[in-house]
Amino acid sequence: MKEKRTSDKIDFSFICPSCKIGKIKMTKTIYDVSDGDKMLLIKFECDKCQFSNNDIIPLTTNNAPGKITLKVSNEKDLKSKIYRSPIGRLEIPELELSVEPGPSADFYYTNIEGVLFRFENAVSIYRKNLENDDAEIDELDKILRNLRKALKGEFEFTLILTDLGGGSYILPEDKSKYSFQKFENDEVN
Ligand SMILES: [Zn+2]
Repeated sequence: MKEKRTSDKIDFSFICPSCKIGKIKMTKTIYDVSDGDKMLLIKFECDKCQFSNNDIIPLTTNNAPGKITLKVSNEKDLKSKIYRSPIGRLEIPELELSVEPGPSADFYYTNIEGVLFRFENAVSIYRKNLENDDAEIDELDKILRNLRKALKGEFEFTLILTDLGGGSYILPEDKSKYSFQKFENDEVN
């Protein structure tokens, strides 16, 4: 990180998850790095205790609308970073799981492991609310078994991220498993 570009402080009204007394302040700083890329540093700080957290988000990785595909087959792949923009669609066909674009499904920056955890949580909650003789249960249990294997790097799957606006991206740990297919104009419209 060479040069600091802009920085602005935003006061947030949410309560610190650590001390439960202080308020969290969020600072966004954009850095220019080599090759003309930009990085966004988001820092969360409590005004009462030592709690702080950082996220670094590359801003110029992939700007073209298209379909990103990542093959995941081991624990290293699970550490690949992913950012899904509000209009990005994320899916794992082998597990029959997807996240649709939408106004409630906004900022979503995590790694592949984080995506699997969110899916596991969502499927578990859904399953708990079913009657014991529901026909869906066997299928859901199979998905959960495969999700838990996937979290240990023992289940191969494909993660597909489609974004018509071009804001989403994946930073692969292993570039040989990554591919990007740019959409032509007629596919966007
Ligand atoms: Zn605090």
